[in-house]
Amino acid sequence: MNDNSETDTLNKICKEARADGKLSGKNLTLLYDLFGQRFTKALEALTENRAKKYTFKPSNRTVWIVVGRERDYLIMPQAEFCTCDDFYFRVLDKKIHLCYHLIAQKIARNLNWHDNIEEVDELYDTLMNEWKKSTV
Ligand SMILES: [Zn+2]
Repeated sequence: MNDNSETDTLNKICKEARADGKLSGKNLTLLYDLFGQRFTKALEALTENRAKKYTFKPSNRTVWIVVGRERDYLIMPQAEFCTCDDFYFRVLDKKIHLCYHLIAQKIARNLNWHDNIEEVDELYDTLMNEWKKSTV
């Protein structure tokens, strides 16, 4: 399996899920087959409402956070970047393309399965520093 096939399959499934408003049984099975434990963890994060979309006003900059057991993970969807150890060690190593936070974020965005939090732009730097600090 090459590096891009995970993203391609996930994007395809997300598109279907967005159209249906839910994940079909077939797609749940596909996701589980493809990601295994990572999908289980992503789904757990979603059902526990741990995906948060921050929108900073008035600039409308957005930042995604997945709240973890020990800390929060900062996700930059466009760059497919995450601040977790999994991402750092394995994704950069090209062993695994997507960590479970990125999987959760993609599903959350397509199914609108996340909290929306609004903050003022003045807090952007402070919060970003806070989130980035937890990087290895
Ligand atoms: Zn991650």
